[in-house]
Amino acid sequence: MFLNKIKQLVKGLVQKHGTNDPWDLCEKLKVIVLVADLPTNIHGFYHCINKQQIIHISRWISNSQMKMVCAHELGHVILHGHRNMYTVEHTATLEQEAEEFKFWLLNLRGLSTEFPTFDPVEIAQFANLPPEALILDF
Ligand SMILES: [Zn+2]
Repeated sequence: MFLNKIKQLVKGLVQKHGTNDPWDLCEKLKVIVLVADLPTNIHGFYHCINKQQIIHISRWISNSQMKMVCAHELGHVILHGHRNMYTVEHTATLEQEAEEFKFWLLNLRGLSTEFPTFDPVEIAQFANLPPEALILDF
């Protein structure tokens, strides 16, 4: 049910801020993004301290992966901003919602007629990533 609302939410966000770039959106939304020395099995996470939302992204992944991780984590910020995602609340449903947010934000399913529709396989080839990396970034 909630997944159906994410497309509209992303569309509204992109129209309001005039960008679908996750880095730009984080800046406009005053979300701090830190590229950090994370363990290699963690590509990113976010947490909230004193109402300041902070996204941490691994420095060990490629720029295109960083952008996707940033979009995924921004999904958590927007959709689940009151939770800390490194806790036990890191559930499959929340992950699915963040992935849905990422896909719409990065136009992988075509946000509207203003944006071209991309095939995830083409995106994966372009980014030199295995197709499953577009869905699973952890
Ligand atoms: Zn996540």
